[in-house]
Amino acid sequence: MMFFSTRDSEKKLYSASQVIKQGLADDGGLFVPDSIPSVTLEEIAELADRSYPEKAATILSKFLSDYTYDELLEDASAAYCESSFPDGAAPLKKIKDGTYSLELWRGPTAAFKDMALQIMPRLLSRALVKTGEQNTALILVATSGDTGKAALEGHKDVDKVKIMVFYPVDGVSKVQKLQMVTQMGNNVNVCAIKGNFDDAQTGVKKIFSDSVAKEKLLENGYVLSSANSINWGRLAPQIVYYFHAYCELLKTGEIALGDKINVCVPTGNFGNIFAAYLAKLMGLPIDKMVCASNSNNVLTDFISTGVYDRNRKFHLTMSPSMDILISSNLERLLYFTAGTEETRDCMKKLSESGRYEVSESVKAAIKENFIGYCADEDETAKALRACYNDNGYLADTHTSVALACADKYLADSKDDTKMVVVSTASPYKFAADVYKSITGKDAADGTGALDQLEALSGMEISYPLKDLDKRAVNFSTVVDADKMLDEVYKFM
Ligand SMILES: *Cc1c(COP(=O)(O)O)cnc(C)c1O
Repeated sequence: MMFFSTRDSEKKLYSASQVIKQGLADDGGLFVPDSIPSVTLEEIAELADRSYPEKAATILSKFLSDYTYDELLEDASAAYCESSFPDGAAPLKKIKDGTYSLELWRGPTAAFKDMALQIMPRLLSRALVKTGEQNTALILVATSGDTGKAALEGHKDVDKVKIMVFYPVDGVSKVQKLQMVTQMGNNVNVCAIKGNFDDAQTGVKKIFSDSVAKEKLLENGYVLSSANSINWGRLAPQIVYYFHAYCELLKTGEIALGDKINVCVPTGNFGNIFAAYLAKLMGLPIDKMVCASNSNNVLTDFISTGVYDRNRKFHLTMSPSMDILISSNLERLLYFTAGTEETRDCMKKLSESGRYEVSESVKAAIKENFIGYCADEDETAKALRACYNDNGYLADTHTSVALACADKYLADSKDDTKMVVVSTASPYKFAADVYKSITGKDAADGTGALDQLEALSGMEISYPLKDLDKRAVNFSTVVDADKMLDEVYKFM
C-alpha cells in the first residue's frame, strides 16, 4: 500500500513510514492511501474473538504495509495496555434500546485523542528507523489544552523522540494546566508562554520555518516534527474502534453478522468521523454517519447545501474541542468523492475567500453517507440532563452534542437501525459544565467541580484526573512568546 497527496494529480507515491514521518504533503495536501483494503464479514466475525491490540494490528497492517504484523501488534499492545486503559480501550455501553455509547476516553488523558496518540508516536519511532533517519524527532506542540497533554502522554519515553509543549499561561483550564505541569517522562518538556493560544501557535510555526534554527538543531542531532491531527498515523488507528464497536454488538447479540449500524460522531476536525467512513469503505456494515456539530455548525450547512463557508461568527461553547471552523480532514472526504482537481480547486478557494461549493454529484455522494445535525448550548445541556435522568448515563458535553443530534436524526428519520454514539471525553474532563447542565447550579472552581460531580453521580472520577492537585509539579517555566526558541535550545 502506498500513499499520495490529495492535491497531486501526478500521484507521486510515498510509503506509510514516509507519510507518518512527514505528516503533511509538500504541496499542502493530505496523504491518502492509493486503494482501500477490504474486510469480509467472515473476517469481522473472526475479529470479534480477538483482543483490542490484535484488532488494531490486523486493521493497521492493511494500510501500513511496510510495518510487519508483529511490529504493529507490539506497538498496539504497548499503546492499549491495561495500565493506560484499565477499563479496556473502547468499552461499548448500552444507553437505551437501540442506542450505545462507544467510550473512547478511558485512556491516560481522559479524552479520545489518546486512541490515536498512544500508538502514533510508536509508529513514528519505527518510521524514523525505516526511513534511515539518524536524528531524533523533536515534536513541538502549541496547545489550547487537550492535545498538549495527550501528545505528552503518547510520546513520553518513546525512543528517538522528544516532545516540547507550549501553552498560554492564562489560556487553559486549571485542570488542563495541572495535567500538563505534572507530566512525567524523561523526554518531555512543558513551557508556559505569556500570551494567548495564537501567540503560542505563531511561535511554534515561526520555529518550524526558521532555517537557522533548523540548522542548529540538526547539528545537535534533531529534526523537527509535529503531532498534528492530519497525520495519517493519527487517522489510521481511529478506524479500528469502529470495527471493535461492531464486534461488541455482535458478541452481545444486539445485531447479527451483516446487519447495518449507524454512527453519530461529535465532530470538529472531521478526523473521527472520517475514520468511520473509511471503515465503511473497507466493508464494515455502516449505513448513516451522523455528523454532530455544536453552534459552530459549518459542517451541518456544508452537508445539506454543498456550500462550505467559514465566514461566520465563531462561538465559544462548552464543547471547546469542537469549536472549529476549518475542518482539515474534510479535504480527505473531498478527495474520495470529488478527485484531485476539484479538491485542489476547493482548497484554493477556502484559503482565498473562506468559501467553496462542491458540484451536485459530489454533494449527492456525500449525502448518501452523511447527514449533519447541530445542537446549541441549551439543546446540549438538555440532552445531557435527559440522558442522565432517564437512562442513568453520565455523558460529557461533547458526547451530549452527539446525543442531541442522534435524537434529532431519529425524530426526523424514524430509522430503527442501531445507533452507536461516539463518546469522546470523560464527563470529569468538563466537570463544571456537566454539573451545571444537570443541576442548573454553578460548580466550584478548578478541581472542586470534580468532587461535586462525583458526589452527585456516584461515578468514580476518571483515574487520570484523580488527585491531580496532589501530584508533584515538574514544570514551572513561564517565558515571553519571543523566547520560545531559547527554551527549545535549552531542552536540546
Ligand atoms: C478532538 C475532539 C473532538 C473532535 O474530533 P475530530 O476528529 O477533530 O472531529 C470531539 N470531542 C473531543 C472531546 C475531542 O477532544
